[in-house]
Amino acid sequence: MNKEELEKIKQKALDEHIPIIMDDTLEVVDKILKEIKPKKILEIGTAVGYSAICFSEYLQEGGKIDTIERDEERIEEAKVNIKKVGVEDKINIYTGDAVEILPTLNEKYDVVFIDAAKGKYPFFLNQALRMINKNGVILADNILYKGYVMSDYNKHKQRTAVRNLREYIKEVTENPNIQTEILEVGDGLAISKIKIS
Ligand code: SAH
Ligand code: MG
Repeated sequence: MNKEELEKIKQKALDEHIPIIMDDTLEVVDKILKEIKPKKILEIGTAVGYSAICFSEYLQEGGKIDTIERDEERIEEAKVNIKKVGVEDKINIYTGDAVEILPTLNEKYDVVFIDAAKGKYPFFLNQALRMINKNGVILADNILYKGYVMSDYNKHKQRTAVRNLREYIKEVTENPNIQTEILEVGDGLAISKIKIS
């Protein structure tokens, strides 16, 4: 992998305020991926491909990442970025709304990384649970949403997102087959280990 190109991609995304995975969150995810050595990863929310490129380093030989993005401009940029770094044989992009694409997928994944519309997190969770392997891990980025998830006061604009993020947390903590940890890294990361599937 071309690390110099990766650094340029990261800087450009930050300059353009694209919400790529934060360094401290990435550090935690890296550790998890190193341990699991996934064969297949599903990502919901590609943006310009930064996180998918980072994760691709930890795939098993012959492993693959499927990633979903609906913004056409970002998809074009992601494709260019993935090529530049030289990992195009490891990443497959699905173009469109994840709400429509997920139900059409019938694969098994070792890791699912949820990083898209916050109001859809409970839906993404159910789809992830349908496809996750036993002993797999479901990760949800931005789960604490700038702390709104833990505070009483929510502006109208964030209300739906906050309600759905809370619903996500409730579901993963109440499900006896899932063991969840919520970390205050970046914008909050939920790590859910699947015990039975
Ligand atoms: N994972 C990326 C950042 C993703 S930002 C990284 O860390 O590098 C979130 C992305 O999700 C945005 O690009 C947005 O267009 C996309 N998105 C949001 N809701 C979506 C949906 N319902 N279906 C597909 N993509 C979605
Ligand atoms: Mg994020």
